[in-house]
Amino acid sequence: MPYVVTDECILCGACVVGCESDAITEGETRAYINPEICVECGTCERNCVSEAIIYVDEEEAERIWAELGPGDRFS
Ligand code: SF4
Ligand code: SF4
Repeated sequence: MPYVVTDECILCGACVVGCESDAITEGETRAYINPEICVECGTCERNCVSEAIIYVDEEEAERIWAELGPGDRFS
């Protein structure tokens, strides 16, 4: 199951700094997580001030990623 960033993100940058795997990038309208790098430690979810990071099943993640613009996704 991947962690994904929702549109609640306010681009504060805290998750980018706090991710020890360097799996998070600040996009154009929200941060985004590379699921191929993320080790699912949950630190970003716990620390997000906007509760913008959620843990979802693959199907929901694919739905969310499909709605993102090219500047807000990992590939
Ligand atoms: S910590 Fe939350 S609000 Fe801040 S950049 Fe990350 S996802 Fe967005
Ligand atoms: S769950 Fe852990 S490894 Fe994955 S993006 Fe969040 S802080 Fe980084």
